[in-house]
Amino acid sequence: MYRAEAVDLRDVPVVDNHCHGIFPDRTFGNLAVWRRAFTESADAGMAWDHVSTTAFYRRLIRTLADFFGCDPDEEAVLAARNERDPKKLTGELLRAANIETLLLDTGYPPQEDVLPIEELAELGDCRTEPMLRLEILMERLLAGHDSLREVKAALSAELDDVRGQGYVALKSIAAYRTGLDVREWTEEDAEASLHEFRRDAGEVPARLAHKPLLDTLLHVAFAKAARQEVPVQFHVGYGDADTDLLLGNPLRLRPVLQRPEYRGMPVVLLHECYPYTREGGYLAAVYENVYLDLSYGIPLLGFGEMLSFTRATLGVAPLSKLMYSSDGIGVPEIHWMSALDGRRVIGRSLGELVGTGELGLSEARAAGEDVLRGNAVRLYGLSSNLAG
Ligand SMILES: [Zn+2]
Repeated sequence: MYRAEAVDLRDVPVVDNHCHGIFPDRTFGNLAVWRRAFTESADAGMAWDHVSTTAFYRRLIRTLADFFGCDPDEEAVLAARNERDPKKLTGELLRAANIETLLLDTGYPPQEDVLPIEELAELGDCRTEPMLRLEILMERLLAGHDSLREVKAALSAELDDVRGQGYVALKSIAAYRTGLDVREWTEEDAEASLHEFRRDAGEVPARLAHKPLLDTLLHVAFAKAARQEVPVQFHVGYGDADTDLLLGNPLRLRPVLQRPEYRGMPVVLLHECYPYTREGGYLAAVYENVYLDLSYGIPLLGFGEMLSFTRATLGVAPLSKLMYSSDGIGVPEIHWMSALDGRRVIGRSLGELVGTGELGLSEARAAGEDVLRGNAVRLYGLSSNLAG
């Protein structure tokens, strides 16, 4: 047995390269409502009967009990939480997580429901930068323009200067809508799809889940992203039941990755593509422009499983391609605990590479800093002071 001592990364600030906004005044009247914040299931019985038995939830309760200085049971933790002002708690948790920058997916929750990103930055004593969700922009443009030609032209104009509009990246949820196999469609197919979209748009709000139309518009966005070398984040794998996990395999992106004219577009595969982690690691090893996000808040996993996906990715992908995130959403607990866990898990996995003689200790420490912050700083161009 080789000696594997964890690399200590506790002092390294994180760039959380993918997360969501936090509600300003979220309180939880009872345990069922509270538990619901920690599942991707919409089934009511899950929160009542099962959520509290996941490894993730048990770890959360114990970690929060430590933070509050209360008993490690959910009633005590919820009571301690409810005694605190929600905004103040958000600030305390974010600061305790030592966050350098949060990159926020502004597509969900709606921006009017969450803390403004400037306020979030102040509370967490960190930098915050927004990312633009493509499907929401497309739905807005479809509502405001008639023909396919007009919609494409409007999209192209909106994406002419992504960074100039204040965004550090684009985000696509094609995996949630019609699958990652973004194809080429004829003009006729795209027109027919637009027609179907208009027919379905009777139900409000109009949801763009019409494959030829969405794929066609995505190609407009990819061309723009490639020209500006703006990263595009793709939701991959694990999500709520709305996603068809069979269509969320990152290998389906191959036709897009193979296109030479898109090579300028950095592709960030989110959520370690869980459970397609090895597939994601493989793609990051084969395509120069593919990066892999390692998220330690959601998927809601046990420690061993986080260790396992981290090992798998460190073992196949270049270390320069891996970036930390939380995918935290709604409540600050996920953003916070993810940072603590991410440092521990990455530190342990890198320690194993030291133990096997693959890395020296100082190389492992440097790799840890790169995965936690440096790779994201470089990829998203965060070193210049764009904004507060
Ligand atoms: Zn997300």
